[in-house]
Amino acid sequence: MKFNENFAKLNESYLFAGIAAKVRTFKQAHPREDVVSLGIGDVTRPLTPAVICEMQAAAHDMAAEDTFHGYGPEQGYAFLREAIVRHYATKGVTLHEDEIFVGDGAKSDLGNMPELFGRCSVLLPDPVYPAYRDVNVMAGNRVYFAPGGKRNGFKPMPPSKGRFDIIYLCSPSNPTGAVYTREELKVWVDYALATGAVIFFDAAYEAFVSDRSLPTSVYEIEGAKECAVEFCSFSKSAGFTGMRCGWTVVPFGIASGTLNRMWLRRQTTKFNGASYVVQRAAAASLGKQGEYENRKNVEYYMTNARIMHDALTAAHIWHTGGVNSPYVWMQCPKGMTSWEYFDLLLEKAAVVGTPGVGFGKRGEGYFRLTAFGNAEKTARAISRLVDVTLSLKDSHTAPEHR
Ligand SMILES: *Cc1c(COP(=O)(O)O)cnc(C)c1O
Repeated sequence: MKFNENFAKLNESYLFAGIAAKVRTFKQAHPREDVVSLGIGDVTRPLTPAVICEMQAAAHDMAAEDTFHGYGPEQGYAFLREAIVRHYATKGVTLHEDEIFVGDGAKSDLGNMPELFGRCSVLLPDPVYPAYRDVNVMAGNRVYFAPGGKRNGFKPMPPSKGRFDIIYLCSPSNPTGAVYTREELKVWVDYALATGAVIFFDAAYEAFVSDRSLPTSVYEIEGAKECAVEFCSFSKSAGFTGMRCGWTVVPFGIASGTLNRMWLRRQTTKFNGASYVVQRAAAASLGKQGEYENRKNVEYYMTNARIMHDALTAAHIWHTGGVNSPYVWMQCPKGMTSWEYFDLLLEKAAVVGTPGVGFGKRGEGYFRLTAFGNAEKTARAISRLVDVTLSLKDSHTAPEHR
């Protein structure tokens, strides 16, 4: 039998499985310990009333012959694409409905879009959302990294040489919580225009930006409509991780509409759309009541983020994120590796986070905390984390951080 040999090049994905195994072992040994997870980036707040009501109404439609919906339009229902266009208008961004493609979540489209480029070269931030890397390894693409670090606040900037067909950017970033400023994004857009690259801009966390001076869409940057595709999702803003709905913007300005036509062709061939009921629910989440209710949930998470950010700041622990992002990315103490710190926290504080090295080489020595948990538990966990971290003796013998 012959298979795609690129799959053999994938790193074993032991990050979350490895974490789960360690937590299981710890819980067996300490059954009464209150283990709190600040690890997995899944939302915990239930769907809001506006979304639930609309889903019920849509389910009713499906029960009668004259309102039943079968296969929908491949790009998504007009009512949802219009709602998305209005969502962009509030940011001062003007888009055409036919530039919007509704899908079953951002992850699928982020993974499928490279197909339009054939074998190509791809630039990724390091640390990175692992799916960007893995889909391109599977496709046999050449993968390069733009390094993030303390010096650039984990906001990688364009390399001084080389050109790439695709550049993935995520802002606010998962895993680092860092958010590009307008000026920084402009540098990327200018670089893409100058080198003929297409930016894949992942805006899954746009709803978490409260600082009005920060861009929440790449199209707030001049020139982006000629070089950037934007991916967005209802998962984090509206709690749709289990509902599955997102959208992708492919502007007519990229290669005179070529990429838009290619994506339409691809989608009509390989995709039959997100479900009617889910699209109705998604549209409701962008309505007045839905937006209000979502904002309450985002505020709930951002209070968690703020508590973590403030506690780390007070303890002088270096970190990014937590202000306009539900992720906090902290430096491990005393030069510990990500996994050494993971083990220490689990053992001494019964707190679970995500080792930064799981997101790439440049993540070594860092640790990700998420704000998607319960408020009381988060407050308890961060206070234990800080206590344990501050109580480390200077004589700790972990190898120097590299
Ligand atoms: C959660 C997340 C998404 C959203 O994925 P969906 O498939 O829409 O659930 C996209 N990008 C990043 C970086 C994420 O963390």
